[in-house]
Amino acid sequence: MTALTDRLHSSLFLPGHKKVASNFDLMIDNQFMNRSVVLLGSPVFLLLTCAILSAQTQTRSTRDEQLYALARTDLKAFAQQVSRDSTSELGRAQAIVRWLAEHFEWKATDYQKRTVQEIVERRGGNCNELAMVALAAMKELNIKLRRVHEVNIYTNTPERGERAHQMVKDKGNTFSVFGRHHNDHVWLELYDSTAKTWFPADPSSGLVGVDEWMKGRVWFGKRSTLNPLTNDMIVPFAIFAADDEGKFIIDRTQHYLVDEFDRLYGGRLHTQAAWSQWTSTLELLADKVKGAFAGSVDLHDYEAQIDALAVIYEQLRAAAAQPNPSGPIFVFHTDEFWLNLHHFLYVLGRAQIHTRDSSRAAVAGAPADAEKGLATLTEADQKIWREAVAAYAGGLSKKDLIFDNPLPAITNSLAAAGDAGSLAGTKVDSSVAAILEPAAPIYRRRWWRQHAEANRAWQTAIEGLVARHGPAVVAFITNAYKLAWPPTGFPVHVSAYANWAGAYSTAGNLLVVSSLTEETQGLYGLETVFHEGMHQWDDQIEAVLAREAQKQNRTMPRDLSHALIFFTAGEAIHQVVPAHVPYAEKFGVWNRGMSTLRDVLSAVWKPYLDGRGSRDEAFAEIISRTAPLRPAG
Ligand SMILES: [Zn+2]
Repeated sequence: MTALTDRLHSSLFLPGHKKVASNFDLMIDNQFMNRSVVLLGSPVFLLLTCAILSAQTQTRSTRDEQLYALARTDLKAFAQQVSRDSTSELGRAQAIVRWLAEHFEWKATDYQKRTVQEIVERRGGNCNELAMVALAAMKELNIKLRRVHEVNIYTNTPERGERAHQMVKDKGNTFSVFGRHHNDHVWLELYDSTAKTWFPADPSSGLVGVDEWMKGRVWFGKRSTLNPLTNDMIVPFAIFAADDEGKFIIDRTQHYLVDEFDRLYGGRLHTQAAWSQWTSTLELLADKVKGAFAGSVDLHDYEAQIDALAVIYEQLRAAAAQPNPSGPIFVFHTDEFWLNLHHFLYVLGRAQIHTRDSSRAAVAGAPADAEKGLATLTEADQKIWREAVAAYAGGLSKKDLIFDNPLPAITNSLAAAGDAGSLAGTKVDSSVAAILEPAAPIYRRRWWRQHAEANRAWQTAIEGLVARHGPAVVAFITNAYKLAWPPTGFPVHVSAYANWAGAYSTAGNLLVVSSLTEETQGLYGLETVFHEGMHQWDDQIEAVLAREAQKQNRTMPRDLSHALIFFTAGEAIHQVVPAHVPYAEKFGVWNRGMSTLRDVLSAVWKPYLDGRGSRDEAFAEIISRTAPLRPAG
């Protein structure tokens, strides 16, 4: 049926997946190396690790020394060598710019004029000099590019302002592009002949491509840049690209700081009160910066406007951290009597027909819970109850709550019935009502009070966590997926029992979470509600992944979108509570046939979550590493 699924469903039960190693053993890449060493604590392992690391360093430095030697003697051969693995303009630019950012030092401006050759010999320079080298190297590959000059809000430094005033007095207005609270910076724009657009490449910080540049220079999240000096450049406010004569007059301010900035936050910024001040102040300052470049305006005359813009930027940051000012992130329902009865009978029915998932932690306790209550009932009531369980066992319990019609519709209609005294007049199917109605008074007497109490306790705990961490988590996952959270939030139907997984998400925005299982308590409950909410994006994300797989002539791995959810939701909670071990690691999900996906996501998706590259570049890379090629013909 729908793609809103818990795809793990079948892979969890694939036979023959034995537990080979803990998750951390498998995550030995450079990033996790130190952690693994500490965890494993074996001296032999430590020695091995050092040997591997030094071998890698050795190989890398030899290649880098060769590349550097090439850059000194033959810039074209250098450019070809360093970008040999890439075919696109973006890929080649990334290779060159990142290499330069990693291997050349960013040095302070000393007002010496140098040739490209001299900068290469010096193995470093200011942003303008590094841009000169990158530009010369990329020109050798016939990449079309142009220089870009920006002015940014810079850490407020009064002494610097004094020096800058003197500079303007001595040398003129063109020197007013830096001052007490602002600074200038130079980078490049490259032409993507496929997309027919210009994209940024900053040789000082190693940022290439719109998304990466935006996340390194503009956004409010953790900045990803190879050069920590960019951290003093709080945000650019005027950006001009050079025309054919080298004059910085092509205004790119609106493109990066209005259109792309708003897009980065899913269109939420332009609804903020501070947004119109942001755009009008940018417009005014961009005009003055253009004048300063031409020598006709002293930008120091507009320091008050620059100060004001810094305040507006902070207002936008605060607003962006509140992603749903108009509505809740989740709406919890704990008093849904019929929905609870339905799920209780459903899991008891499955236990009765011995489905393999009946032994899973989230449902294994249900039969004992039932027996305890049954022991206190009259024989007549016991008989009615057992008949209801048997009816489920013979019908609905054979179906899957997520995949199989008509279960999602039935569950939705039972949720709507709430705590009604009877199902008469509700939309619940009459054949289902005929099973539930006789069992209802018994459930109400024996189990409901206790189940409803567990539901309420769970709600109190999870609602507290959502209030505290929810906005940051929503910001993280909506930025990761580039999709918007619904303005009214997701309803969460809390039930003593749900399915074997302890929670699920299916058609009709139906999120059901079990309040009794250990797997949904505390931070795991928080991760679970976000995980299930993200399943409502399955259709959209799978369409994007399928298009990319098609493009690469590959078959999309069935569990990919689900692995992405596990990884992203786990990482989102880990970001706000560093001690949190993500659900998939804690409960062994990766070991159930998804360890390859986990490894690729660690290598590709994690750097993206940390701010590197764009979502679709990461998707393309993940698919190229995990999806098998389609057979020819
Ligand atoms: Zn799931």
